[in-house]
Amino acid sequence: MAAEITIGAARILLVQGDITGEKVQAIVNAANSGLMGGGGVDGAIHRAGGAKIKEECQAIVSRIGRLPAGRAVITGGGNLAAKYVIHTVGPVWRGGDRGEAETLASCYRESLKLANSGLIKSIAFPAISTGVYGYPPEEAAKIAVNTVIGFLSSGDTSIELVEFVLYDANSFNIYQRELKAEES
Ligand code: ADP
Repeated sequence: MAAEITIGAARILLVQGDITGEKVQAIVNAANSGLMGGGGVDGAIHRAGGAKIKEECQAIVSRIGRLPAGRAVITGGGNLAAKYVIHTVGPVWRGGDRGEAETLASCYRESLKLANSGLIKSIAFPAISTGVYGYPPEEAAKIAVNTVIGFLSSGDTSIELVEFVLYDANSFNIYQRELKAEES
């Protein structure tokens, strides 16, 4: 079972379950531009993390305005086991010719850059944009895996562990196939 691969000094691990319980230093939230919480993984993270995360998000929005798709910001983790939450805004799928792939890759890259600049060693990603935002899951998984491998291969990084936390079995299987394809 290809549920784990090693890139340089770092590991990429697949996990099936709820990202809010992950014991990593940072979990990534598939947020929306207003950083106000919402449905899906965003709602779950704010529910589990408590009001402190939303307060920090509101402070960020009043400072920089709405967060454009492809960008990422960091807050504390509130009541979560994770010390930090990195909030990134995925693209809404509009057929694939509106730069969705580049925007989605940017979500992963910008989140990893933030983690790296904070010397974070472990980070967990959900399958950004594949819920309400409608990104086809296979294509999203390719971008997620390729972008993370590209980042980890590109030089010095504090990151030792990247988890992809997939909520359902179908997404887990898609990522497993993708990781296997990368291995061979
Ligand atoms: P988006 O708006 O970016 O599409 P969603 O939250 O609607 O974000 O969905 C993104 C992915 O997160 C989907 O694959 C969904 O099944 C998954 N998801 C939902 N809740 C959780 C959770 N608690 N932990 C991990 N993944 C989750």
